[in-house]
Amino acid sequence: MTVPSILVVEDEDALATLLQYNLEKEGYQVAVAQDGEEALVQVDERQPDLIVLDWMLPKVSGIEVCRRLRGRVETRNLPIIMLTARGEETDRIRGLDTGADDYLTKPFSTVELAARIRAVLRRIRPGLAEDVLRRGDLTIDRVAHRVKRNGREIHLGPTEFRLLSHLMQHPGRVFSREQLLDAVWGSDVYVEARTVDVHVGRLRKALMKDGETDPIRTVRSAGYSLDVES
Ligand code: CA
Repeated sequence: MTVPSILVVEDEDALATLLQYNLEKEGYQVAVAQDGEEALVQVDERQPDLIVLDWMLPKVSGIEVCRRLRGRVETRNLPIIMLTARGEETDRIRGLDTGADDYLTKPFSTVELAARIRAVLRRIRPGLAEDVLRRGDLTIDRVAHRVKRNGREIHLGPTEFRLLSHLMQHPGRVFSREQLLDAVWGSDVYVEARTVDVHVGRLRKALMKDGETDPIRTVRSAGYSLDVES
């Protein structure tokens, strides 16, 4: 499965960083643009699968970015989720009919944003966003946050859940501890590499409770991979 790429256009540093961190944890490839002008350049350079676009931006406003993208053949169908401040802007923006695919009013939870992104991608690019992944006898529902093995419900902590979700998105691929740290914990969090081993251990224990085989392969001095037939 290809990893969908998202361009976050937001001039508030703290929010941009938070969104990038959380969307990367959801398994997306994320780039950030800090104003409307940069957004238009990055759309051309990166060709993202979706844009999260703030309405109030320096240089070129979010609404103008939206209009320009909708006015070009190459970006006419590019999914756009618009962020607005609380208050009248949401109504105004809807009234302006900018052609955004969805709107979210600040403050919003990143869980809510992730759900909207999945919904928009599912509608517009059905192949990209799969809520439910099946690999071998494992099933993970990333919306309902449920995991099953052979139909048996498996209860995982949030870190183990993200770890399994990441491995299931790339079955057979070997990830180093550092890559897993970046993908699951985030690149700006300091965690020791052996923490990965601890959580992989917990994940294995939960997955093998009924004496099933170990679906996670340890690759000596390289890392871990999910070893199931997809
Ligand atoms: Ca702003």
